[in-house]
Amino acid sequence: MLDKKKILLIIGILTSLLIFISGESYAAGKKKIILIDPAHGGKEQGIKLNKDVSEKDITLAVALSIKQMLARENNLEIYLTRDSDKTVDMEDRKDSINKVNPDFFLSLHVNGGFGKEASGFEIYYPEFSDDAVKGKKAAKDNKSQLKNKCRNDSLRMAKVIQDNMNILFPRKNRGLRKADLPVTDDILIPAVSVEMGFATNPEDKKKLLSVDTQAEISKAIAKSIKSFYR
Ligand SMILES: [Zn+2]
Repeated sequence: MLDKKKILLIIGILTSLLIFISGESYAAGKKKIILIDPAHGGKEQGIKLNKDVSEKDITLAVALSIKQMLARENNLEIYLTRDSDKTVDMEDRKDSINKVNPDFFLSLHVNGGFGKEASGFEIYYPEFSDDAVKGKKAAKDNKSQLKNKCRNDSLRMAKVIQDNMNILFPRKNRGLRKADLPVTDDILIPAVSVEMGFATNPEDKKKLLSVDTQAEISKAIAKSIKSFYR
């Protein structure tokens, strides 16, 4: 036989369980999903920094570190297009986007070229050119709205990352650059691509190879993502 006290206790437990479950799903619904894309990987090394280290290693190290730094953020969920040294082609990256459906796509690269003089970081953001929007009028209106949001979010995030990278590398800012990214020519998604420094510049190369600088870059980007979604 259940007495009144026991019934009250059971009701109490059930109520708190319900509050707990609904609270959880509420929080889960609000999570922002970030897909970080460590460029290159596996057979595709990217630019070589020395005989052991290539762009693919630096982009992976920074991506993993950003993910770790943001692991405890309740409102963020971080995914990577690769978490090991494996070959990932453009179609795989696009598949990741379609599967994860992120709020933001962030690609990481190491720059090279323009002689030994060129140094510093660059941030690319897509402008979502009009030919990306095709179809009927209603669908077109929806798409242009989404396109505006993507454009605004991309530029805003690029600016936040620029500010935080500026603190790290003063006078090394080569500016924000408008360019459609390979993934955004047929997927409407807020995105930026960070070129973290020049492998062809001796000073940049030394920094990029340093674990401390890699951690600092990760920190600057993690901080940017955090403040963007605060
Ligand atoms: Zn690259």
